[in-house]
Amino acid sequence: AAKEAGRNQMILFDEELRAKRLAAARTVHRLREAITRDEFLVYFQPLVRLADERIIGVEALIRWQPAGESMVPPDRFIGIAEDSGLIVPIGAWVLRESCRVVSGWHRRHGTVVSVNVSPRQLREPDFGLLVLDVLRTSGLPPEALILEITEGVLVNSGKVTEQAISHLGMLRSHGIKVAIDDFGTGYSSLAYLRDLPIDNLKIDRSFMPTPGSPDPAAQTLIKTIIDLAAGLHLGTIAEGVETAEQVVLLRDLGCDRAQGFFYSRPVPEADAARLIQDSTTAIR
Ligand code: C2E
Ligand code: MG
Ligand code: MG
Ligand code: MG
Repeated sequence: AAKEAGRNQMILFDEELRAKRLAAARTVHRLREAITRDEFLVYFQPLVRLADERIIGVEALIRWQPAGESMVPPDRFIGIAEDSGLIVPIGAWVLRESCRVVSGWHRRHGTVVSVNVSPRQLREPDFGLLVLDVLRTSGLPPEALILEITEGVLVNSGKVTEQAISHLGMLRSHGIKVAIDDFGTGYSSLAYLRDLPIDNLKIDRSFMPTPGSPDPAAQTLIKTIIDLAAGLHLGTIAEGVETAEQVVLLRDLGCDRAQGFFYSRPVPEADAARLIQDSTTAIR
């Protein structure tokens, strides 16, 4: 009976796997169509400077709007786009579109833009040239662009990935900034922070203290990350800020910037433009 149950489980597992693969293949097909049909959008989430709570920048976040369907969040398709290589053209589009939109905001308000870059994009030999071309055609100065990468881009199972390092080193020599996204959730050693071409740490939202309850462990972790960044002359950006208490804590600990639902959700271009315009005074 135990054997029988084991076999049944195996069959179930096989079927689940097959169903998953089929769904992924279907998504790849639909993503290809989405590229030709122009079904992607960029939403923008304000980045707030904690010292005066002004919006000094935005993070560009992709959205997929298939005709006649509800919007698909990135968590449902970025992984599949990465595995299939489609993230290369999709990521290039996000970069171009974000820089085009934000160059206008930058001229008027000095707004900067942070764009997520996947490991797959950084393996492309032409990635560095692509970024420089996007800046030239959009008119956005290099200092106004932040590339967000995850720890895994730079350090893969303990090994530093040379292609990524060389792209980022070259781009930084032009003035472009690099941020480590979701900092603290990877498994790489801290030693890499000293040697790698980066400017900012984005503290993952899982470190934000639980609202309404004293959370000394979370506070200790956040303080440690902020102190670490300061010691290495890196800027800090807190992600997933949802309450006024969290803002007070972050400011007390010397965090530079914050983003989260407390200030604004990611919003379409027109709404972001309005928020930035209004924030030439203060956001709240
Ligand atoms: P991320 O880069 O860490 O972006 C932050 C995510 O946290 C966004 O989810 C944002 O909506 C969400 N968020 C912001 N503030 C709060 C908050 O206060 N509370 C909570 N609970 N969530 C908050 P989103 O837009 O669904 O994006 C998810 C992930 O998808 C991103 O995480 C990023 O890893 C990836 N992604 C998004 N756009 C792109 C893109 O253009 N290229 C690539 N390669 N990845 C992207
Ligand atoms: Mg990000
Ligand atoms: Mg993040
Ligand atoms: Mg994330």
